[in-house]
Order: sequence, then C-alpha cells, then structure tokens
Amino acid sequence: MPLSLALEGTVIVSGGNRGIGYELSRSVAESGAQVAIIYRSAKDADEVAAKISKEFNVPVKAFQCDVTDQESVKTVVNKVDKEFGPVTGLIANAGVAELRPALELTRADFDKIYNVNVYGVFNTAQAVAQLWVNKKFEKGSIVIISSMSGEIYNTCAPNQALTQVFYNSSKAAVTHLGKCLAGEWAQHKIRVNTVAPGYVNTDQTKDHPEEIKSYQAKNTPLGRFCHPSEQAPSAIFLLSDKASFITGATIINDGGYTIW
Ligand code: NDP
Repeated sequence: MPLSLALEGTVIVSGGNRGIGYELSRSVAESGAQVAIIYRSAKDADEVAAKISKEFNVPVKAFQCDVTDQESVKTVVNKVDKEFGPVTGLIANAGVAELRPALELTRADFDKIYNVNVYGVFNTAQAVAQLWVNKKFEKGSIVIISSMSGEIYNTCAPNQALTQVFYNSSKAAVTHLGKCLAGEWAQHKIRVNTVAPGYVNTDQTKDHPEEIKSYQAKNTPLGRFCHPSEQAPSAIFLLSDKASFITGATIINDGGYTIW
C-alpha cells in the first residue's frame, strides 16, 4: 500500500520563502494543504507564493512577520486562520546563523541568534497552540527545524577553531524546547517534533569558506551536502496523521554526520 502523506487545512511555514523553507512550502502544497509563508524582509515573497501555488494548484500566500515579535506573530497567526484558512500545522523553520569565533561574540550577537532560533520558534508555536486550545482542535502538529549541531559538538573547521557557539547551542535549546512543549501540550493532543538537518546548500551556508565546506562534506558518511528538498519529507511525515503517535521526537536528517 502506498504511504500517502496527505495534509489538510493550512500549514504555516516560517521562513518558507527560500532555502530549506522554500522546499518545505513546496512539499506542504504538494501534499494538498494550503501554505501560509511567513517571511521577514524578502522582496519577492508574494512571487514565491504565487509560483508554488501555480505549481501545485493550491492556495499559497505570503505574510510578513518578524517571528521575534510576539504580538505580530499572534496577529499574523490569527489573520491566517480567519482570513486564509484554518491552521492545522506549523513548521517553525526560520533561523539565523553566525560564523565567528567565540572570543569575539557579544550580547548583541547572542540576542540576534537566540531571539530568532529559540524565542521566535517559541512565539510561533505558542500562537498556533493557543489557537488550537481555544478551538479545541485536537489534531494540531508542530515541526521545529533545528540542526544536527544541536546534537553534537560540531566544529566547522578541521582545527576546531570555529564552532558557531551561539548557533549550535541555540539549536540544542530549541530541540529541547520541542520536547518540553510536546510534554506540556500532549494534554491538548498537540504534537511537537523536531527535524535536525545536516549541512544544506542554502543562503545560510553559501558564503562559508571552502575549507569548511570540504570539511563538512568529508565528515558526512554519505559524502555530500544535502539538497534543501531532502529535508522536507521527514517534516511532512511528522506533520501528517501517519505520525499520529509520535511526539517529542527528533529526526536527524544529516547523511550520517552525527554517527561519529
Ligand atoms: P536561509 O538563510 O536560506 O533562510 C532563512 C529564512 O528564515 C528566510 O526565509 C528568512 O526570511 C527567515 N527568517 C530569518 N529571520 C526571521 C525572522 N526574524 N522572522 C521571520 N523570518 C525570518 O536558511 P536555511 O534555509 O539554510 O535554514 C532554514 C532552517 O534550517 C534554519 O532554522 C536553519 O538554522 C536550519 N538549518 C540549516 C542548515 C543549513 O546547512 N543550511 C543546517 C541545519 C539547520 P527572509 O527571506 O525574509 O529574510
């Protein structure tokens, strides 16, 4: 029997306009649900939404919102639900990274990374969970896009001189946040799971020095980087009813990087 991963209603994808998020948005649309893309400052988000909508013949709309702003997130989530379609799922994907030595980092750097990668994920998850609790909707599913860097000590370079300490630790925090939310919201039948990608070719990694890229590829057992589209299937599975008994789990989608 084919494993059909049909989705219903509207799925919010934060950072759904480019990189991994773009492929997540495409896969949600391909699975039959409407997509509400949240973006921060992209100029082409409406065009991206229209393109995905046309490709899969499903309504897709872009909504500007900074995920670090709690009130804006609540407003946008409620607007999506009332004016676009009932929200049934969330992929909290928006994230930012820094590649600087720990000795140079400041409080401002900490805020920049943690505000998006941890607080921003919390904000979006809280806003959709509140919506579902109010409506007594008991099939809500949240998927957080964390990172393999939250699982292990991931040095970026052969000499271990650069570890993206705020980024990596923020991803460990958000993976654990997912488990805590899964536990607390199980009483509302809301599932919360995490996908931890390995090294993916996107804007986040495109400017990394060749030394880092080759080190990462060499240390990935499958011997290559991940295409953004290869992260989507695990997220779609966790969103879907086929994962109805899975909550608080993490799928590590890293080509084997964290094995050793
Ligand atoms: P990109 O840099 O390509 O895209 C980031 C996305 O997040 C953009 O859509 C951006 O919107 C959005 N975003 C950033 N900040 C905010 C904010 N404050 N409010 C709303 N939206 C925001 O990232 P990737 O596709 O590479 O990464 C996606 C996720 O996957 C991130 O969480 C990342 O940490 C994680 N990841 C990535 C890996 C990689 O190797 N690339 C590896 C492991 C995990 P806009 O376009 O408007 O700026």
